[in-house]
Amino acid sequence: MQAWVIGNWKQNPATSHDVNALMDDLLTAVTAEESTRAGTAKHCQLMIAPSCIHMAAASARLQGSSVLCAAQDISAHSATTGAYTGDCSAQQVTDAGAIWTLIGHSERRQYHQESHDLLVQKLDNGLKQNLGIVLCIGETQAQYDAEQTFDVLDEQLAVIKELLEQQANQQSGQQSAAPSDVAVTLSERLIIAYEPVWAIGTGKVPTVAEVSATHKYIKQTISSFAAPLSTVSVLYGGSVNADNADSFAADSMIDGALVGGASLKAESFLAIAEAFNRAKT
Ligand code: PEP
Repeated sequence: MQAWVIGNWKQNPATSHDVNALMDDLLTAVTAEESTRAGTAKHCQLMIAPSCIHMAAASARLQGSSVLCAAQDISAHSATTGAYTGDCSAQQVTDAGAIWTLIGHSERRQYHQESHDLLVQKLDNGLKQNLGIVLCIGETQAQYDAEQTFDVLDEQLAVIKELLEQQANQQSGQQSAAPSDVAVTLSERLIIAYEPVWAIGTGKVPTVAEVSATHKYIKQTISSFAAPLSTVSVLYGGSVNADNADSFAADSMIDGALVGGASLKAESFLAIAEAFNRAKT
């Protein structure tokens, strides 16, 4: 299975000049690595998620490279246009060069009080514009300490079940289970990123065994919604760096990484990608 390493730049870098410098470093290193590899298979797909303001410039620089571009978020209110001050729609980020979008990042849930219903709308809007969706889920420290991780994940993953039911109802006009074609389409456009909130930007990480067991649970849960979802990749995010990437990459349940801080330096980002590339041969 192909691995994914996705860089979430969040509200960084500060200026267009700094974005260009990061893109220079990234593209120089990717081009050099690809010419060394010449003909040998690559097992890791790279993607970056710049902030909306830098999306068009970053995606223009990525033209002709193997690196994909994602948005960090999309509007829940409209997939296209409308009176939603401050929002960027799925159509607008697609027009700016995004192929995928993150949704449900814990920072959106925490600082913007993103609800379950809002995320169902975002999922729907993204799919309407043919975007791939990286759905971020994960428990807080208090929930982890109270051993509520799987309960929290059940609630957060329920947006997928609801979306499947909604789409099935739209297609069939009846209250029935999701037809397999809807689930097949979703399976091709969905990635889950498991990110324990307490591991994001803290330097604290769960053990690989814990992540592996949690990913197994996520895979089983989404497969129970619809069999085609058994092929969906599940990435780990939370303080992944060049030093610990090998250990995560070696586990068969971990299909890649969503990387925050370490994605802001080409060297550490590409070292993480290389760890997954080596491990997933
Ligand atoms: C993130 O915010 O998605 C993330 C994983 O951040 P970091 O790698 O900095 O922990």
